Amino acid sequence: MASSLKKSITVVGGGSAGFLAAITLKARMPVLDVTVVHSSDIPIIGVGEGSTLTMPIYLHGYLGIDPTRFHKEVEPTYKLGIRFLWGPRERFHYTFSSQLDKFLPGMPRPNGYFAYEDFDYADVAGALAAHDKAFLKQKEGGGPVVNTDVAYHLENVPFVRFLEKYAAEIGIEIVDDRVDEVEQSEAGIKALHLESGRIQTADLFVDCSGFSSLLLGEALEESLQSFDSSLFCDRAVAGGWDREEETLLPYTTAETMNAGWAWQIEHDDHINRGYVYSSPFISDDEAEKEFREKNPKVKDTRIIKFSSGARKRTWVKNVVALGNSAGFVEPLEATALAVICDHAAKLIHCLADSYLEIDPTSRKYYNDYCWDTWENIRRFLAMHYKFNSRLDTKFWEAAQNDTDMSGAEEIMEYYEACGPATLWAGKAMGPNDPFSWEGYLVMLVGQKVPFRRSFQSTEAEKANWKRYHEDLKKTVSDALTMRESLDMIRSDQWGWHPDFYRSASRW
Ligand SMILES: Cc1cc2nc3c(=O)[nH]c(=O)nc-3n(C[C@H](O)[C@H](O)[C@H](O)COP(=O)(O)OP(=O)(O)OC[C@H]3O[C@@H](n4cnc5c(N)ncnc54)[C@H](O)[C@@H]3O)c2cc1C
Repeated sequence: MASSLKKSITVVGGGSAGFLAAITLKARMPVLDVTVVHSSDIPIIGVGEGSTLTMPIYLHGYLGIDPTRFHKEVEPTYKLGIRFLWGPRERFHYTFSSQLDKFLPGMPRPNGYFAYEDFDYADVAGALAAHDKAFLKQKEGGGPVVNTDVAYHLENVPFVRFLEKYAAEIGIEIVDDRVDEVEQSEAGIKALHLESGRIQTADLFVDCSGFSSLLLGEALEESLQSFDSSLFCDRAVAGGWDREEETLLPYTTAETMNAGWAWQIEHDDHINRGYVYSSPFISDDEAEKEFREKNPKVKDTRIIKFSSGARKRTWVKNVVALGNSAGFVEPLEATALAVICDHAAKLIHCLADSYLEIDPTSRKYYNDYCWDTWENIRRFLAMHYKFNSRLDTKFWEAAQNDTDMSGAEEIMEYYEACGPATLWAGKAMGPNDPFSWEGYLVMLVGQKVPFRRSFQSTEAEKANWKRYHEDLKKTVSDALTMRESLDMIRSDQWGWHPDFYRSASRW
């Protein structure tokens, strides 16, 4: 029997998941009464600052948040991708553009084959990153050429503060109170009993309560499927310092460490670093020591514990979980915010399609889709660990020998047989992979994972590839730095075309 959904939705949690979910529901279906219940006594996680290209498009194209206002109030910086200090190369860049899965004119094979030896200049974004530049210059003294294939670096606390303010402006009720007791019924959750004595009822509850997963995990007992056979890291030590003479870089850096890796995220005046590590391989004190040795300017640090895993069903009865309460994979590809957005968009589509009468079939497809996302992220991240040959510590030895790569068998079979080819990528990868074949090629070629087929470039192909590099070097030589670009984008002279983000929205 179809469960009845009228028009009240209560979101539990006021972190990025809670407010992104609430804003999505209200902005896309204003008829809904949306309430957010969160407790300022239970702090938000306060990390989650890298993102993917989904973020700007989702915020401005799908939700309609004015980019000019957003830049003024949140002051994001742009991220072209990730600089990986990883594998045998000195470095490589995983940008949001298409570097390796495309063919240059006159070339018989995709770029991936040619970049195997020499990766830095596979496209404009890669070349910009190689030169620590952010954007090309518009002609005749204009500002930066900004496209939709870039992401944001966001400071978590101001970002969430902005979302809260915006939520209130579009008519979402925000209640600062603590959920003390969860009352259940046949339909799932009947009511939330709040510390103040208020009883909160709703037709649908969205659980964004973070790792505690108050409604889906605790009350409805939907268990977390662990990904620890593929992803061994379970802690992070995070810290940072105020920017001094350091250049504001246009990418996140991911650096191999003895028992994991460290991020570097670039904000205007602050550099945020964190070491994600595996507690069976290194103690908290040793991790903190290694982190500080690499980053002597780091001020206070804090340790964050987590488990990588997800719930197979994130929609059970009248409860849908989003954000860390639904699942979490360690932040190597900074995917969490994008997953929240994508799943919130799918949720509102489901609600709209069924005129708010949800049938079990829609719910099942929603659950299958979300679970596929988690599985795809897990297998992609597993590939980062399996093939990183940079250090030969105990941790990396275990990662190379023991990382569970299940789900990636066909991808590896195709790559090992044919190298960085593209023709059968869709078959090998399956549908709905958020990274697309480009992502797999970057990580396989970037880490110089060998393949069986040998090929010889002709002299003409070698010359063509070299000429392409030289052209790119020239193209980026007078490109703008991130600092220069942000100054222009935040100035009163800058304007956004109303369709700029809207036309890129894919939900
Ligand atoms: C080390 C680390 C690094 C990360 N880096 C990235 C990154 O670079 N990019 C990225 O996209 N993501 C990253 N993430 C993921 C990031 O945490 C999430 O993207 C995001 O912040 C979602 O958090 P949340 O809203 O689910 O939970 P939280 O921020 O923890 O919010 C939970 C909310 O629930 C409320 N709550 C809980 N219990 C109750 C109760 N009983 N009553 C009332 N309210 C309650 C709290 O008050 C709070 O408002 C990282 C995570 C970790 C651990």
